[in-house]
Amino acid sequence: MGLSYRAAVLHAAQAPMAVETVTLAELKPADVLVKIRAAGLCHTDLEVIEGSLRYPMPIVLGHEAAGIVEQTGPAARGVKVGDHVVLSWNPHCGHCFYCDRDAPILCEQYLGEGPKGRAFDGGIRTSLADGRQLQQLMFLGSFGEYCIVSDQQAIPVPKEIPFDRACLIGCGVMTGAGAALNLGAIAHGDTVMVIGCGAVGLAAVQGARLAGAGAIIAVDLDAAKLALAAKMGATEGVNASKEDVAAFGRRATGGRGVDVVIEAAGSAAAFRNTTEAVRPGGQIIWLGKVDVNNDVSFRSGSLMQEKRIRRVSYGNTRPRRDFPLLARAYLDGALKLDEMISRRIKLEEINEGFAALKRGETIRSVITFN
Ligand SMILES: [Zn+2]
Ligand SMILES: [Zn+2]
Repeated sequence: MGLSYRAAVLHAAQAPMAVETVTLAELKPADVLVKIRAAGLCHTDLEVIEGSLRYPMPIVLGHEAAGIVEQTGPAARGVKVGDHVVLSWNPHCGHCFYCDRDAPILCEQYLGEGPKGRAFDGGIRTSLADGRQLQQLMFLGSFGEYCIVSDQQAIPVPKEIPFDRACLIGCGVMTGAGAALNLGAIAHGDTVMVIGCGAVGLAAVQGARLAGAGAIIAVDLDAAKLALAAKMGATEGVNASKEDVAAFGRRATGGRGVDVVIEAAGSAAAFRNTTEAVRPGGQIIWLGKVDVNNDVSFRSGSLMQEKRIRRVSYGNTRPRRDFPLLARAYLDGALKLDEMISRRIKLEEINEGFAALKRGETIRSVITFN
């Protein structure tokens, strides 16, 4: 096929990406060619740029995207040309040890191929102008005008939802809202604490609201993010630089501690606060990341009393079930996405977009394509 298009290529960690012309190989039978219309800048991309998450280079980053299906391979199922799709970064084989145990996020093929930056079948789909192979992040690589994915990654959503909002569902919103809706087991009237009010945390606040939480306590270091959390449904805000988070949680619950605490800040202090703030028998959900080689410490007593800790990466999602549901919730006014978009930028502005994310100025910058 040899389709050429523009993409932002990362040649080395801690160097700026270069927008250059790259070339697609032919579609394999189960492949889907997607014309990208919007792609969000996520913290996980930033980790690759900074070098704390290591991938082979050169690579096209980007794993939170929406677009239009332009072409499908002869064996591609569940999606057709012209569909509006949100892309999933969790393809899975369906028949390994973990798939058989209903844990697609642990699929052996997914975890085996992911770190190589290749397509789900282990192949390479794109190359640089000089012919060198180009990797794709998380089976996607959506910081470009096109992207080849496996059919199970292209999830049709209603055409009414604008692409710049739809793309958020593909990572940050699914991760946060899914934690609350699919794993939190939040009961009506529960007190839920969400630590960290970036895109994932704001989505968790909304997931808690949709699940029927009574009080929702948002925690952050930034007053502007707490104000945004209030718009999303948080009933109280705590600035962790000024107040003791666990003490606030106890005061709000007659001394017990909160029923459910969701960590979305990605700092050792936030992880530590989760076990201190939750009540006996309560639930802790960890979403954030610190460098995998760093330690996180806990007070031993805070781990007692039947507390349940769950680590989750993608909201325990089943994308074909959840992506259309979240898109419909947006169209019904129940899920707020407009407020999560801080900036709309062009592909050429991608490096400044990540610099702003690093400085904490943005919830989400979204690259829009014509
Ligand atoms: Zn599998
Ligand atoms: Zn992400």
